[in-house]
Amino acid sequence: MSWPTSTAMPPTARTPAPADWMPNSFRVTNGGISRVSTAAPAPGGPGAAADPWFPSTLAGSDSAVNSNAVDEPNQQGLNAAGNLPGAAPRAAPIYAWLERLAVLHAGLVDVVRGGRSFEGRPIKGVRLFPGKDKPRLFIEAGMHAQEWITTSTACWLIHRVLQADEADAAPWSGLARAFEWHVFPNVNPDGYEYSFKTERAWRKTRSKGLVCYGVDGNRNWAYGWNPGNSTTRHPCARNFPGRAPFCEAETRGLSEYVRSLAPGARLRLYVSLHSSKQMILFPWGCSREHSADHEELMEIGQRAASALERVHGTKFQVGPIASTIYMAPGNSVDWVYAAGVKYAFAMELRNPVKPEQYVSASAIEATGEETFAAIITMLEEVASRSSRCGK
Ligand SMILES: [Zn+2]
Repeated sequence: MSWPTSTAMPPTARTPAPADWMPNSFRVTNGGISRVSTAAPAPGGPGAAADPWFPSTLAGSDSAVNSNAVDEPNQQGLNAAGNLPGAAPRAAPIYAWLERLAVLHAGLVDVVRGGRSFEGRPIKGVRLFPGKDKPRLFIEAGMHAQEWITTSTACWLIHRVLQADEADAAPWSGLARAFEWHVFPNVNPDGYEYSFKTERAWRKTRSKGLVCYGVDGNRNWAYGWNPGNSTTRHPCARNFPGRAPFCEAETRGLSEYVRSLAPGARLRLYVSLHSSKQMILFPWGCSREHSADHEELMEIGQRAASALERVHGTKFQVGPIASTIYMAPGNSVDWVYAAGVKYAFAMELRNPVKPEQYVSASAIEATGEETFAAIITMLEEVASRSSRCGK
């Protein structure tokens, strides 16, 4: 018996994607998407430890990529590549990697721009699996600069979904490819870099105010912004919403990009990544009132949390932002939901061992694996609900 031989070799050696590690598996048949397996993966199962990609590419051993990381090590103990011990990549290597993906996966990956930061860095993301009439998924990470794991996780998600595509073996890859993905791993690059170079716990943008730097990017969106126009909010506060909605270049640019994706029509699912309270959240953050879609969003969130838990046993709480974590007026998910994207979620990723300190390669992998399970489940829910008559 002979197997057909592929004439197209992948440009670099990669680990084949495991076929059945996901709790929910999917196959596209006659244009429809159906669940084909409910086998639970083993924790740390196939594909987890064998994949050397992330740390080797982004955290120091790939000199071609990391030649962009030129900052001097400082007293925080950054290594020569500008990273803490661990695997969190700097902004420039991330962007270099995105550009490289677009070359390696021509036709499947485009680098896209959601404006420019206050200090002039481009807000880069990728579009995966572009298609004329495909529904769209949007993932943003790094709005809060110190939440490094969110940026690393978004990169891992990009890597994972492309890896599955190459191997063409993962049962969920059909579902993934049915959507056009827009992923922005680092939407606050100024703050992110500042959190490496100067202040590890920095959260805000780096715009220059009269007395303090920065605005909380997740309080600056133009829905329910700064209720009562509170003038008591101090500009040095960590959750300072800014002097006006969308006064920040980062939120303005990103929101314009989101608007261009036809929210509510083609843009069907939005996920904002934060860390690290282990929650799946949905509108509203500006009010304790239930949204019109409360029950449905709760149901999807709980299914996503169950899928996530099946990967490594991590338990996530599910509920509206305001009553589950705290009031957060002016957050991106509220704005996106109000703009017509019914399926709008924020995820507070798993709690690391040392919050805000190290982001190890194994932490990125474990977080990535379970987050991916949740997002694939959300995609399945959105796809199946979209195809229901009358919905
Ligand atoms: Zn956050």
